[in-house]
Amino acid sequence: MSDDASRGDDDLPEEALAFGSDIGGDPEPFTYNGGRVDPGESANVRYGISETYLGDPVRIPVTIVNGEHPGPTVFLSTAAHGDELNGIEVVREVAHDWDHSALHGTLVCLPVLNVPGFLAQERYLPIYDRDLNRSFPGREGSTSARRMAHRIFTNFIEPCDIGLDFHTSTRGRTNMLHVRANVEHPIVARVANAFSSNVIIAGEGPSGTLRREATDAGVPTITIEMGEAHRFQRRLIDRALTGVASVLAEFGCLPDSTVHWPGWRTVIDDDDEKTWIRADAGGIVDMKRGRGGLVREGEAICTITNPFKEEDDIETVDAPFTGLIVGVLENPVVYPGNPLCHLVGLSEDTLTALERERERSDARRRSRARLRE
Ligand SMILES: [Zn+2]
Repeated sequence: MSDDASRGDDDLPEEALAFGSDIGGDPEPFTYNGGRVDPGESANVRYGISETYLGDPVRIPVTIVNGEHPGPTVFLSTAAHGDELNGIEVVREVAHDWDHSALHGTLVCLPVLNVPGFLAQERYLPIYDRDLNRSFPGREGSTSARRMAHRIFTNFIEPCDIGLDFHTSTRGRTNMLHVRANVEHPIVARVANAFSSNVIIAGEGPSGTLRREATDAGVPTITIEMGEAHRFQRRLIDRALTGVASVLAEFGCLPDSTVHWPGWRTVIDDDDEKTWIRADAGGIVDMKRGRGGLVREGEAICTITNPFKEEDDIETVDAPFTGLIVGVLENPVVYPGNPLCHLVGLSEDTLTALERERERSDARRRSRARLRE
């Protein structure tokens, strides 16, 4: 675990810090199979990636914003899992509400990757429940999922320099906003740090995921996890928009903007204390902690009871170590073995920084409440 309240990438190699600075000269058109967007122009495209049982095209929405000035090409993708909606609003606001007159470089905005899943409001592609986010980089002549992934990947991912892929927790659970990134890769680490989330979970990700395959193909990419499926959660969306602006500032796309650094940051790697705490009893869960909550070793996280609330059948689940609740159950019913919460350990320094930050925000809230009285 490493903790750093500053940029946190002073130890990155020079090539990583110089990345993007050589993109100069004339701004370039963005091209994909079937189209082109010139500097200073933007385009809303519906791009065919498959066909339905009726033979109609399956088309993904894509907005390409090519700035007047030269700079990196950045993709922002969401809803590879069709019911994970928060990122859609992030990408739509970046694409359509932001003023792009000062943009250096190009934004490739992909608000809904898994269109069949989105239409059904399901995580997977409804065709045999395939996971689009295990099908990248895809392949021509392969399964339906891989063919779709291939068309997305070759046209809109490979031409980019860096990428941000937005997700939420699986249905029935929620996540605090955090980044997942292969921080061993220096440019991925730079993207992850610039997104300015408090928590980064390190790791390259399973094969077939967009972030891992894009990174392997030379497009350093991070995943942002935020909130729950089937919702727009305004506070998380606003925080993610701050993260996007911060990444764009870091890589020179928005040269007049400043990079935002979080007050505290913890990078959780494989050796650190982190665990999905699972239920050992089936029943109805009374969750005592929320997303992003801090829990001390031995404190109760939840109780599990039967329908009769019988005293001797109440199971209390305590925190095995002091940590932060990064993900938590929302749907309050479990079988034995179902996950209750995702707890990650914190060092003493991070704990102190986090508590100080929360005291400050509590004080601000109290003083605002006093002003309203
Ligand atoms: Zn997802």
